[in-house]
Amino acid sequence: MNNEYYGKLIFELSRSGRRGAAIPDAGCPQVDLPTHLTRAHTVNLPCVDEPTVVRHYTNMSTNNFGVDTGFYPLGSCTMKYNPKINDEVCAHHAMTRLHPAAPDESVQGALEAYWTLQRCLAEIGGMAEFTLNPFAGAHGELTGLMVIRAYHDSRGDKGRTKVIVPDSAHGTNPASAAVAGLKVVEVKSLPDGTVDVQALGALLDDSVAAVMMTNPNTAGIFESNVAEISEMVHKAGALMYYDGANLNPMLGIARPGDMGFDVMHINLHKTFSTPHGGGGPGSGPVGVCAGLEKFLPNPRVVKKADGSFAVTTSPDSLGSISATLGNFAVQLRALSYIMSLGNEGLCQAGPLATLNANYIKESLRDLYKLPIDRVCKHEFVFDGLIDKSTGVTTLNIAKRLLDYGFHAPTIYFPLLFHESLMIEPTETESKETLDSFIDAMRSIAREAATAPECLKEAPLTTPVRRPDDTAAALNPRVTWNDLKTSAQ
Ligand SMILES: *Cc1c(COP(=O)(O)O)cnc(C)c1O
Repeated sequence: MNNEYYGKLIFELSRSGRRGAAIPDAGCPQVDLPTHLTRAHTVNLPCVDEPTVVRHYTNMSTNNFGVDTGFYPLGSCTMKYNPKINDEVCAHHAMTRLHPAAPDESVQGALEAYWTLQRCLAEIGGMAEFTLNPFAGAHGELTGLMVIRAYHDSRGDKGRTKVIVPDSAHGTNPASAAVAGLKVVEVKSLPDGTVDVQALGALLDDSVAAVMMTNPNTAGIFESNVAEISEMVHKAGALMYYDGANLNPMLGIARPGDMGFDVMHINLHKTFSTPHGGGGPGSGPVGVCAGLEKFLPNPRVVKKADGSFAVTTSPDSLGSISATLGNFAVQLRALSYIMSLGNEGLCQAGPLATLNANYIKESLRDLYKLPIDRVCKHEFVFDGLIDKSTGVTTLNIAKRLLDYGFHAPTIYFPLLFHESLMIEPTETESKETLDSFIDAMRSIAREAATAPECLKEAPLTTPVRRPDDTAAALNPRVTWNDLKTSAQ
């Protein structure tokens, strides 16, 4: 909407002397402060009336795209609808007013909620124990790899310095391995997107600490050789790490622990519905199989023999990876999500997410190139349009989707294909929404054939059109004064 508030900073709407509040007379005489206590300069606060404040922030809140405003099929990110009951639970004053150092006996309810989530995740993942301390998926990966190092070290097995990561892996996998002080060795995928088991076997020896896998992988394909891979990896003395950011289609259907994984993380902000994007908030709990519990980070929440709950530390722990017990507001949302759906509801998420992804895939495959032609799980990848003669790229398609009112899919990831367009609809979308997305994608393919130049200019209707991402990252201007300077 283009009105006088549009695209302006609150400082630009400011008019000297304008106010949005009337401060009542204090009823006592005015006193001049001694000059050494007063400011040398006036405070540069915007002077605006109340309607201006309300319209400014309300307009601004709709300039960005969110899952509450429209369909958000951002592959790998699981942008499912976030039920509002979860926010109600975590915003309850009984939760928001807790202090992290409160004595255990005064916060038994909160500790019970925390412990219950640990147990729910252990059941869902097929793991013995969970820590909820890590703040993100990547932080969970680092924590999990530190557990694996602690395990090898505890056995005096110090030569295990490598981590094997498939070439389809999320970029955080090799990054976390490097931060954990381990060397990354890449294993290739086969043309069908799954890990090349033979190539993996050739890399296994006593210098390998772990193999990191995502299942289903980032092409949305279930790694059906996982049992065989687990056996090979364990025989070589290494451990199996599960990147659980893609757990959504597996919920209640299959468990990483049963597939032979020893350590895993879960992205509560993906599978368990906390609103995310723009860098937070998140939570990346880490689960371990029996025998590895003692290495988990401090502190932990345990249930004592008398049925009460306590925060404890363990001397064998790898140490602390967060100031306290992690991101409690995200943990509460996840628990609320799990308990409000229940066993029956949770078990429907994966099959519905899988159905939705396959429905879109099959509805567009005559126009978009499908490099892996198999039944997918919760997401799949197109390699751009089939007709490449128009010069219309995946970037053009993604930008044009914004004009149609959809968030773009993930683009140029995974790196397996040149024009990757990775679509994850999630289970929370209706058939009508999926159909209108399919219509938009079909219209874009038609435009590519008839008016490709228009696509190369897209988006035409968004508040910001084609930002220079590199310049914005290298030279961010984040304050009003920066903007004024740049305009001069
Ligand atoms: C999102 C994601 C991650 C990283 O999670 P963050 O919370 O963003 O750090 C890791 N692996 C996969 C497959 C992902 O989709």
